[in-house]
Amino acid sequence: MSIHEECGVFGVIGNPNSDIARDVYHGLYALQHRGQESCGIVVNDDGVFASHKDLGLVGEVFSENILSSLPGGRMAIGHVRYGTTGGNTVSNIQPMVVSHQKGNLALAHNGNLTNSLVLRDRLELSGAIFHSTSDTETICYMITRERLKCASIEQAVLSAVKYLKGAYSLVMMSATKLLAVRDPMGFRPLCYGRREDGSYVVASESCALDAVGAHFIRDVLPGEMIVFTMNDVESGAGPVSYTENCRDHRTPCIFEYIYFARSDSMIDSVSVHDTRVRAGKILAREYPVEADVVVGVPDSGLDAAIGYSIQSGIPYEIGLVKNKYVGRSFIAPSQQQRTDTVRIKLSPVRSVLSGKRVVLIDDSIVRGTTSKRIINILREAGASEIHLRISSPPFRHPCFYGVDVDSEDNLIANHHSTEEIAKMIGADSLGFLPIDDLGEMSGCASYCSACFDGNYPTAVPTDARKDRFERKLSQKE
Ligand code: AMP
Repeated sequence: MSIHEECGVFGVIGNPNSDIARDVYHGLYALQHRGQESCGIVVNDDGVFASHKDLGLVGEVFSENILSSLPGGRMAIGHVRYGTTGGNTVSNIQPMVVSHQKGNLALAHNGNLTNSLVLRDRLELSGAIFHSTSDTETICYMITRERLKCASIEQAVLSAVKYLKGAYSLVMMSATKLLAVRDPMGFRPLCYGRREDGSYVVASESCALDAVGAHFIRDVLPGEMIVFTMNDVESGAGPVSYTENCRDHRTPCIFEYIYFARSDSMIDSVSVHDTRVRAGKILAREYPVEADVVVGVPDSGLDAAIGYSIQSGIPYEIGLVKNKYVGRSFIAPSQQQRTDTVRIKLSPVRSVLSGKRVVLIDDSIVRGTTSKRIINILREAGASEIHLRISSPPFRHPCFYGVDVDSEDNLIANHHSTEEIAKMIGADSLGFLPIDDLGEMSGCASYCSACFDGNYPTAVPTDARKDRFERKLSQKE
């Protein structure tokens, strides 16, 4: 059982046409890279919530029939989720919808709370009954509990988030309001924009605003809550910002820039593509090598490969082609078939590689399995030398803020030096982005790089508490 999640959130308010579910569908499609295991849409039709959620990709879950069966409405939210082994149950699919004393609430969450186990314990002791294993349900409980004491949903959210620790980018919907909230450290991204028709759109990444024709307005600030009310949107007054939980110190996740986000997104005013190109330039400066061609591993290694090529003057070439149709739903071959799934996803361009000294760029080495396989493919295609450059520092620590990282024991950099890793994966040389260059790469003054250096910006759950919680959950299932 793991409680880690990688997700994407999306919301629309003020939509004048009846096709709101389709808008969310298009937004979620653009966020599919943030989660491929389940997804859902909740439409608010004059205060009545209708939803559809299931396991699978956006295109699989939302057939034409399903989309047209969802009602029209002026407001809707959606979610794509990647839950790791064991946590991928139907009850964990988002958005979550709860009915409480004062109405309905739908909530979509990206990130991981670091104190959800403490909060859940307290809630259960006071009589709360949980239906899922996800920390998102804890957030729903905290908000609805506060709602009983507060005059408005915004007051309830402002007071509930004071109890939450860790990473949360939230999009929420009540009968008449859409709310966007980002945790004070700003771990996960969240931004909003507006369309010509006056409707507002909130999304994890700006690429989803582009997909539905919304102009990017700005990022939701770390700690900020933005409230869009139907009346204000219709009158043109726009949203209201609450910044009382904002702080000076922020730590957005550096791995969003390295791997997780899409290259065409802007996060906190920084282009993801530009950071990756800068990472490639740094790698060329730090680890120069004589070579004939620079090749990136699609998709997230391509931008850094361009940067390496610009800085070194070595030509950039497409040496690996990715099969666009291999997704998470791909059925991995059995052990006996001995088929290498990387071979099905990536194929070498022999004319580019044969007899060449290749600089190969990828975004990360986690367990080392992928790099080893890719290097094999390149050797078989005739590459004479392979110099691997990685646009992140070595992975050493788990993430408690919403990125799924293998257990510390399985992280190759925890047991081997760079030279040993190079040997194990069959590279002629290997260089990781120096950890001190993450600031230059991202242009961020401060950030979370705990997966590389173990410096967690907040307290993280203790092992004893995690063990107890996981035991408790497995008894329930
Ligand atoms: P490996 O070293 O075999 O564990 O895999 C490394 C590859 O997995 C890299 O090329 C990344 O593109 C990809 N990767 C890195 N982190 C993650 C993650 N959290 N979830 C899914 N894929 C990842």
